[in-house]
Amino acid sequence: MASDRPKSPKGHGPKWPGPKSQGPNVQGPNVQDPRLPDPQEQNSQELGPDGKKPILNQSLEQLAEYSRKKLGIETLVEELSGLSTIGIGGPAVVIRVKNDQELMKVVTFHAREGLGLGVIGGGSNVLFPDGGLLAAVVRLDGDFKELAVTGNFVSAGAGTPVGLILEAGQENGLTGLEFLAGLPGTVGGAVMGNAGSKSQGLAELIEKMELITPLGENLTLRREEIYPVYRSLNLPESLCGSIVKRVTLALRPSNKDLVAKKIAEERKARREGQPIGRSLGCVFKNPQGQSAGRLIDLCGLKGQAQGGAQISQKHANFILNIKRAKASDVLALAKLARSEVLAKHRIKLLTEIKIWDEMAREVGLS
Ligand SMILES: Cc1cc2nc3c(=O)[nH]c(=O)nc-3n(C[C@H](O)[C@H](O)[C@H](O)COP(=O)(O)OP(=O)(O)OC[C@H]3O[C@@H](n4cnc5c(N)ncnc54)[C@H](O)[C@@H]3O)c2cc1C
Repeated sequence: MASDRPKSPKGHGPKWPGPKSQGPNVQGPNVQDPRLPDPQEQNSQELGPDGKKPILNQSLEQLAEYSRKKLGIETLVEELSGLSTIGIGGPAVVIRVKNDQELMKVVTFHAREGLGLGVIGGGSNVLFPDGGLLAAVVRLDGDFKELAVTGNFVSAGAGTPVGLILEAGQENGLTGLEFLAGLPGTVGGAVMGNAGSKSQGLAELIEKMELITPLGENLTLRREEIYPVYRSLNLPESLCGSIVKRVTLALRPSNKDLVAKKIAEERKARREGQPIGRSLGCVFKNPQGQSAGRLIDLCGLKGQAQGGAQISQKHANFILNIKRAKASDVLALAKLARSEVLAKHRIKLLTEIKIWDEMAREVGLS
């Protein structure tokens, strides 16, 4: 990996350029071409008379069938709302993979066919579009949910729920993960978004991480090759769209009771500070030295509703699905909060949630 790394900025050790925080296709699906292939077409690489790949307006069911036949892996059309903690999102092709071989097949197939492919874990940080996605979404199952503890190291597949690595740390008297207590989602999502508290993120504990790039190259990154920043793994652009397969985290020895106590404290703080209900967690990142929730609150927006969505009364950085909310309701409230904060505090809030558009690209609030 050393060759992928640009030269170090003076005095700060080697640094990779961070992903474009609001640009398309960052940590979201790898979309080369949102058009769908003709399920009847034997060779979708063939060009049409216009010199382009055949443009096919087939249904998602037909795309799922096409992928299923080519891959030999279960491929279904599902409502993304069922895979999202906020319960929002239309249909997409969903592929569940059980091991490295299946994942490799899926990634290389989509790259070859020029089809959009995204990955999701617990769906606790992605706002899916109401109209669904012209792309496939892969979920990591089977081997990707395996977990092992060796000495001070916890190794986990990227599909493992965060709660399970926490439990493993506690049972083995290892400290370091307690700040994640009560956090929904999977290890892959948490690592990619460097999830955690204001001062700590999971990616900072990575000892080793296995990835597959959008072109199907397997890579292992080690601690010294990873430079996470606040709420981002900060991968080099060449690795954007990569899928995390498994991670080894370095913890520190402690004792079970102490770890259990810290976990209970973190859970309590979360219960007290965060609203109950369907959400994606904090919508905006905290600007340096500020709380996004407080800035929104100072604009008087707590309780503001749009359609079925509402800015939480308890924590203004949360938008809740209170009654069959649509992505457009959530976006309208997020845009309102951002423009009011800009007008009142002269601070531009950046989204923490990932917003996927119908072309399956990740977009910012515009
Ligand atoms: C009630 C609530 C409270 C929350 N509190 C916090 C908090 O305190 N701190 C915090 O940081 N976050 C918080 N969140 C947000 C969210 O839980 C975290 O960001 C979580 O880590 C996302 O994990 P996930 O598996 O659900 O990811 P998803 O939402 O499924 O995906 C998030 C992003 O990660 C990418 N991704 C997922 N898996 C992989 C993979 N294997 N490889 C590559 N990319 C991948 C997706 O493509 C997407 O771009 C909260 C959310 C809720 C609903």
